[in-house]
Amino acid sequence: MKVTDHIKEAKDTLFSFEILPPLKGKSIQSIYDGIDPLMEFQPKFVNVTYHREEFIYKERENGLLEKIAIRKRPGTVGICAAIMNKYNVDAIPHLICGGFSKEDTENALIDLQFLGIDNVLALRGDAYKTEANFRPHPDGHQYAVKLVEQITEMNKGNYMMDDVQLEPTNFCIGTAAYPEKHFEAMNLATDLMHLKQKVDAGAEYIVTQMFFDNKKYFSFVEACRNMGIMVPIIPGLKPLKTLNHISFIPKFFHIDYPIELSSELLKCKDNKAVEKLGIEWGIHQSKELKNAGAPCIHYYTMSNSSSVKAIASEVF
Ligand code: FAD
Repeated sequence: MKVTDHIKEAKDTLFSFEILPPLKGKSIQSIYDGIDPLMEFQPKFVNVTYHREEFIYKERENGLLEKIAIRKRPGTVGICAAIMNKYNVDAIPHLICGGFSKEDTENALIDLQFLGIDNVLALRGDAYKTEANFRPHPDGHQYAVKLVEQITEMNKGNYMMDDVQLEPTNFCIGTAAYPEKHFEAMNLATDLMHLKQKVDAGAEYIVTQMFFDNKKYFSFVEACRNMGIMVPIIPGLKPLKTLNHISFIPKFFHIDYPIELSSELLKCKDNKAVEKLGIEWGIHQSKELKNAGAPCIHYYTMSNSSSVKAIASEVF
């Protein structure tokens, strides 16, 4: 079922979450162990991230270094199929531009359709860690809007290589947004303009980057509505869990902690203290978002669901 239909049918704020495929070579049981404790909150959909290849250097016998491309977390589509089969819940694969030609994308979407997957989250992906800027596949998409356009065309039966119309797909397309601005955008206004282009191209709902200050989400939603972005905007939340998160999350995700949270984080002496605060803050954020009528709250589990379970027990 489409995310937009789940939202239309819902009488209250929905619960959903995102998981990461396990590292290559690990069993799918680790995924089930993360999902099992959250099923009591009746998620309507579970997102599965996509991880493109990374480059590593291996030393050859002659002492020279060989650059090798390796995907550390493959399996997005297989995990989606396994989740749908085991839990009878909608699974949403993330689909990125990075590393995909348009034809690769078309074929990936055909696989998803055959599996009975109704939703995709269409994203650009990030640059390689070794490169400053995002570089698309030579025959791929530079921005997520182009990926959204391609899926919309397939939904009309317009595939790439064929002049005739083929059987239309029927994907509900989600897209990403950043209440604190995408780090490459010149300012929030241009970022919003690009978000509007994605919605105009066919994106039917939005999932936000994590944020810790609800005021940022509320003003972001208001700014979107003012410029005519009327689709559901699902807030994304991440419970803080370790001392390392205190500096890693602002640096990696380009977001700020509000003062009320940062002053409490400064008092934390160990991971346990951060985890406890992360749960309390997550409950506070979730209750406020729910009271304000958020269509769904989407939790980033990062494959560790214990804090999300603690929050959901108080909120859903
Ligand atoms: P875009 O919408 O293409 O925007 C990227 C930047 O380009 C923005 O600054 C935007 O303002 C600008 N821009 C857009 N269109 C134009 C234009 N026409 N001209 C000039 N500038 C333009 N990454 C993964 O690799 N795998 C995942 O599974 C994954 N899941 C994610 C889930 C969520 C909910 C979110 C919020 C992010 C996720 N990401 C994932 C990270 C995402 O790929 C990065 O944040 C990436 O840098 C931007 O992706 P986007 O789809 O927002 O890009």
